[in-house]
Amino acid sequence: MSWKGVVDQYRSRMDTLPEGCPAVTLLEGNTPLIEAPRLARELGLNARIYLKYEGLNPTGSFKDRGMTVAMTAAAADGAKAVICASTGNTSAAAAAYASRAGMKAFVVVPDGNIALGKLSQAVLHGATVLAVDGSFDDAFRLVTAIAEKAPVTVVNSINPHRLQGQKTAAFEVCDVLERAPDYHFLPVGNAGNITAYWMGYREYQRDGIVDSLPKMMGFQAAGAAPIVNGAPVANPETVASAIRIGNPVSWKKAEAARDESGGVIEAVTDAEILAAYKLLGSMEGVFCEPASAASVAGLRKLVESGRIEDNSLVVCTLTGHGLKDPDNAIKVCPEPVRVPAEVEGALKIMGL
Ligand SMILES: *Cc1c(COP(=O)(O)O)cnc(C)c1O
Repeated sequence: MSWKGVVDQYRSRMDTLPEGCPAVTLLEGNTPLIEAPRLARELGLNARIYLKYEGLNPTGSFKDRGMTVAMTAAAADGAKAVICASTGNTSAAAAAYASRAGMKAFVVVPDGNIALGKLSQAVLHGATVLAVDGSFDDAFRLVTAIAEKAPVTVVNSINPHRLQGQKTAAFEVCDVLERAPDYHFLPVGNAGNITAYWMGYREYQRDGIVDSLPKMMGFQAAGAAPIVNGAPVANPETVASAIRIGNPVSWKKAEAARDESGGVIEAVTDAEILAAYKLLGSMEGVFCEPASAASVAGLRKLVESGRIEDNSLVVCTLTGHGLKDPDNAIKVCPEPVRVPAEVEGALKIMGL
């Protein structure tokens, strides 16, 4: 049977959607869960690691899961326009799904601080891009203020439909593994995703589909780690632009997910994030964006300090596709090697 997209695939579990409304979908979800044995060996972990490769959603990030539900609800409600603040991926998804629904999209981004791939998606899908002189948090404040005065639907993760969609990634993990993992690692920015996965796992356990729950292991970038520090960060800084957030919308819910699951929310440095980013690309053939690699950087850190039990089942979510932000790949990797256009000279340089 062919995949129907997140809304229709899990319709009975979409707690917030009015019954029977037609889905606004690009057939998102059903992303691969890729086993990563070379990574496990490299980390020295005697356990099975799986990568939930969310970069393979239609617009290249997990944001599509929430956006299909938010846009389905907005369309059912007769909305004509949507608005969001974004570090990039939410705007790409909002723009694509709004175009599909025949709605207008306004996306508010921090000026000069959005990866080119993401910006190109927003403009190509016909969104009006508003660049503000400030951070994501400033952009988000502006969005909520605009929505109080004008007929636009906010599709940031304060919109409850978003988390309903995002929880389906946890369903898919369990559907494939036929159990819940022992640990689930993921990056934390606005903290909606860690909240949504926890909702999804708990729902499957409540309904007897799985009989255990994973520990939720969230990782912020060290320069943008408000939950770890216990205070908002005024000027968040990290190479991982998708998690460059100083005052997460789902802060309290993420702490609840951490505490109820017996997990952690900790920080990883940019150097650790970029090392994991390169490792995933060079050892497992999986290209994710830097923010995504915070999950694997976190796993590595915990393995090194002996905090992951042997023979565990570990899932790391890779939230977005590496092609969103190719500049970072180019920056951290060697330049192309120059060779003459003849065999002998080329072979010499190739060391063959
Ligand atoms: C949005 C996003 C995140 C952060 O997710 P939150 O739900 O905000 O914590 C991480 N990585 C990528 C690629 C994203 O687009």
